[in-house]
Amino acid sequence: MFRGTKIVATIGPASTDFDILVRMIEAGVDVVRLNFSHGKAQDHIDRANLVRRAAAQCGREVAIMADMQGPKIRVGKFEQGKINLETGDKFILDAKWGENGELGNQERVGLDYKALPRDVRTGDKLLLNDGLIVLVVERILAHEIFTVVKVGGELSNNKGINRQGGGLTAPALTAKDMEDIKTAMSFQADYLAISFPKSATDMEMARQLANIAGEPFHHKPMMIAKIERAEAIPVLQEILDASDGIMVARGDLAVEVGNAAVPALQKRMIRMARASNKLAITATQMMESMIVNAVPTRAEVSDVANAVLDGTDAVMTSAETASGRYPIETVEMMAAICLEAEQSEYNKLDADFLNVTFTRIDQSIAYGALFTAHHLRVKAIVALTESGSTALWMSRHSIDTPIYALTPSTTTHRKAALYRNVRAYNLMQEGDSTAVLKQAEDLMVAKGIVKKGDMIVVTWGEPMGQVGGTNALKIVRVGEFS
Ligand code: PGA
Ligand code: MN
Repeated sequence: MFRGTKIVATIGPASTDFDILVRMIEAGVDVVRLNFSHGKAQDHIDRANLVRRAAAQCGREVAIMADMQGPKIRVGKFEQGKINLETGDKFILDAKWGENGELGNQERVGLDYKALPRDVRTGDKLLLNDGLIVLVVERILAHEIFTVVKVGGELSNNKGINRQGGGLTAPALTAKDMEDIKTAMSFQADYLAISFPKSATDMEMARQLANIAGEPFHHKPMMIAKIERAEAIPVLQEILDASDGIMVARGDLAVEVGNAAVPALQKRMIRMARASNKLAITATQMMESMIVNAVPTRAEVSDVANAVLDGTDAVMTSAETASGRYPIETVEMMAAICLEAEQSEYNKLDADFLNVTFTRIDQSIAYGALFTAHHLRVKAIVALTESGSTALWMSRHSIDTPIYALTPSTTTHRKAALYRNVRAYNLMQEGDSTAVLKQAEDLMVAKGIVKKGDMIVVTWGEPMGQVGGTNALKIVRVGEFS
């Protein structure tokens, strides 16, 4: 069965293991996310190597997404690892606590963002641990923020803090991010996710740093903007234009804009991304209860299915696969939900490609292939591609036909792991177009995707072997000439 929606899985202590990773990839992981909020540079380098080895074992190319911590504000560590806050308790966030190694306790905890006391006002609501705990600011005294607990709960080491409504001044790229970008480029992360960007400039800066760090490896990552700040919403189009894709980062976003605003924003973001020929990932708490349970809740099943119907390229796991008890089962379950949602009558074909306007020749070929595939009901679209852009453009529109990107480039192969409705395979593309078309046809037959007599649409660039030059389209009946 062809699953069009991709799965991004965050790995961590529960999944940093060769055998578990192999089983997760076999279960359907397309992209592995390394969360730079946790762990040291060497941990991420080791994990990236492990992922590459596990993917090779499965005969697959899996993309790696390096997710930068960004200016996430976090509490420090606790003496006992965690505390329990009761509603009505007093609690102090102390920017100087921990400077001499002090650990947090029932009365106060340290902060990694020392300027927070300057950014908050009396009456502000501070949400901790993705909004599970709510503190109200009573007064600020120099480096101390005195609060009263409005909603209590367990608070453990390094949990995040947000201010309701947004507006914290921390810049998008921290010194740590700049170092981490270098680390991520040292293992050629295919995707680089930037946390808390509030403008196109933030993304442009990050891309520049990444391209410079990637230079020695001739590597340029695709840039994902995590939309998780209230300020990013009004400038979403500019951020999209400066990025290759976005993540609907519902954890932090919900805290900033309010839970109830998120579902409609998710739909709008995915729609805008696709309309701009950019990628979209839907993230956070999708299978949350599977951190401890072997089956998801009905609500979680619906959430994943609805993201598919919204048109997301990928659904993502966080703690479910990083630290949960059932990393493999979570991926299996997500894959099954995606497949079934894609087959439902509500997974609308969109014929909007009939109305798009374009001026580029390669884009014209991409839309020509969609139009042809849609009306002739062909078995597959085959894009012979160097950069993957033809496959990407085609994948921005939902049609019934799967798209196969056949590429000689490993980086294109890996990046395409995130594109909805696209499966990539390695094809060296040697010789003239007649020879390469034959190689492509043979590969599709060998993979069991098509058989003699099936009709396919093939796109490529003439002459062969040049980047960005897709200018040809052919409708092929498999086995016609052999
Ligand atoms: P995070 O980002 O997991 O790095 O916090 C995703 C989100 O905020 O939803
Ligand atoms: Mn976040």
